[in-house]
Parts: sequence; C-alpha cells; structure tokens
Amino acid sequence: MRVQMVDLRSQYDLIKSEVDQAIQEVIDTTAFINGPQVKEFSNALAAYTGAKYVINCGNGTDALQIAMMGLDFQPGQEVIVPAFTYVATAEVIALLGLKPVFIDVLPTTFELDNTQLESKISSRTAGIVPVHLYGQCSNMEAILEIARRYHIKVIEDTAQAIGAKYTFSDGTVRQAGTMGDVGTTSFFPSKNLGCYGDGGAMFTNDEKLAEKLHMIANHGQKKKYHHHIVGVNSRLDTLQAAILNVKLQHLDRYSASRNEVADKYDEAFAGHAHIKIPVRAANSTHAFHQYTVQLEGVDRDELKSYLAGKGVPTMVYYPLPLHQQEAYKNLGFVKGDFPVAESLCEKVLSLPIHTEMSADDQEYIISTIHSFFN
Ligand SMILES: *Cc1c(COP(=O)(O)O)cnc(C)c1O
Repeated sequence: MRVQMVDLRSQYDLIKSEVDQAIQEVIDTTAFINGPQVKEFSNALAAYTGAKYVINCGNGTDALQIAMMGLDFQPGQEVIVPAFTYVATAEVIALLGLKPVFIDVLPTTFELDNTQLESKISSRTAGIVPVHLYGQCSNMEAILEIARRYHIKVIEDTAQAIGAKYTFSDGTVRQAGTMGDVGTTSFFPSKNLGCYGDGGAMFTNDEKLAEKLHMIANHGQKKKYHHHIVGVNSRLDTLQAAILNVKLQHLDRYSASRNEVADKYDEAFAGHAHIKIPVRAANSTHAFHQYTVQLEGVDRDELKSYLAGKGVPTMVYYPLPLHQQEAYKNLGFVKGDFPVAESLCEKVLSLPIHTEMSADDQEYIISTIHSFFN
C-alpha cells in the first residue's frame, strides 16, 4: 500500500524520545502492575475529560462488562443497543445473561435512533448503550431525558469518540463518556487515544459507583485478599499507562489533525454524485476516529479493490449488522428488522484517516477516488 489506513509508526517517530523514556522508567522500577503511572494516568484523564472519576481496566470490552456489573444489571434484563456497531457492545450483554434489544440507527449520523427508543423500552429494560460511532456523540440530551423518565441506566460506549464534545440546549458542554451513568472507552492501538497493546477505562461522576467499578475490576476486593463481591481481573498495566500519559498530552493535536483530514475529504467529495460525505451531528464535535462515506449507485467492492490496486486501503465498518450475525441468530431477528443498519452495511466505506497524514498522501487518495468515476 502506498498510503496507510492508520499510521502508528509515523506517530511514534514524532514522540519517540518521550515514549521511550516513559517505558524505560517503568522497566527500571519494575513496577509492571499498578505502578504510579496508572494512577497518574487516571487522574490526568479525569482532568482532561472532566469526569469526576476514571477507572482503568484491561480493554474497552471489559469496561462495558464491568460497567454493567457495577450498575447491577440482572440476568434476564434487557439492554438496548444499536444494531449497527462493533460487536463488543452486544457481546458483554449476552455474556452477562442479559438480553440485547437492538435498535436501528439514523441514516445521517449513524447513531442510535432516539425517536424509536421509547418503543424498545419494557418493564425488563435495565440500560441503554449509545455508541458514539466513528467519533461523534449520539443525541445524548434526548437519550438521557428518556432514560431518566423510565429510570434506566445509560452507558456511553466512547471507544471511538474520546475528546468529542457535546453541547446541551442550555449551553452546557460535556465530553463524550461523561454524560451517562458510566462511560467506557478503549485504548486499542488504532483508537484515537491508543496505547501499545490493550487498555480501557470507565468514567463516572458517582463516587460510590466509582469505588464499585474499581473493586469489580480488581477481583471484587477493597483490601488485598478481602473480596466483597464477585469481580474480574482487568487491569491497565503500567507500561501502557506510561505510554498513555505521554500520548494524552498530544490528544488535542491528534484530534485537530483528524479534523483537518476530514475537512479536506469533505471539500473534495461534497456534492459528488456517488459519494455522500459524513453528516456532522448538530450538537457534537467530531473526533473522526473514522471518516466514513456512504456510496450511492456504485459497486462498493469494485471501488474498494480498484483503490487497493492503486495502493489506497479502505475498510468497511461494519459489513454485517449485529442482528444478522450468526452468534445472535437465537434472538430471532431477521433481515428487514433494522433497514437503516442493513443498508448502511452495504453502503459505508471508511477512508484512510490518521494523525500524520501528509497533504501529498491525501491528495493522492482523493485523486485516485475521483479517477475511478472518470
Ligand atoms: C474498539 C471498540 C470496543 C472494544 O474495545 P477493545 O479495547 O478492543 O475491547 C467497543 N466498542 C466500540 C464501539 C469499539 O470501537
């Protein structure tokens, strides 16, 4: 490939001395588990996001699971989740013996369709998991209003949207992950704030809940070898925390670079007969984890392989909605149940976007895409 979908190597090169030093410090002190960098990072991330409490854990999937355990969701209860998202969100629901209740998404912003939310709520509904897909916030004002009215918990899956800001109608601005009962995120290497392995975190403003989430992530113990509740073992290791301490300082620059790339793509494809550029949500900034277009009247696979042949990688996030996945067949949904999710799976294409994209590379991507249609 001439250009890369995500260029973690160039990103590292620019911060190499800081990162190498941070890693070396951990090795020198051999505090591989729960070293001081772990706490330092959760404090720094709390300050950055405005969340009162940040609880680190092993990855973004664990964060979702621990959040549901911490909120006391009981087997048999239902959790509403978009049909168009990464599988992790639904997976932990199923693993805990809960029932995923899928909801369709909006064809504009790809976020869960809040106008359908009330029709999905039953007496067994325990929670809603809005996913801030591709980097912008779901319609949190509407979701939170409905959740409060029905006494339902909200877990924001912020794995793709760390740093995105949402503005409420009263002017209050809050960061993705800090509006619901719990927010969860992932530090998977290619995420907007990625470490060099696995990592994750939960956000909450509730002190008691924060303590509980921390306990669950740590074998249900408050004091070493005293276990109050059934927990799991899910840690952010010190090396990853040390790397994240460095990278968090660059996150605003990373977001700005992603937005610059997105703006250039917008300009290049606005009004294109076959390419629909992403719609910006009214109340949210965009962290552009992905720049995802919708293709109209063109064979996506043909375009994808044409581009690949010219050294331009693209990805399909996601080719199959959750209700059509083999693993969730038992829920009884069929093709046609979530028409927007199904249609998006056929139309979406994510273009290369990353923090060190050169103007030359981006121009090459744009002209290569244009050449397909000429
Ligand atoms: C990446 C991702 C996750 C899972 O994060 P991991 O750290 O890989 O477990 C969950 N939800 C969404 C929307 C994601 O993009």
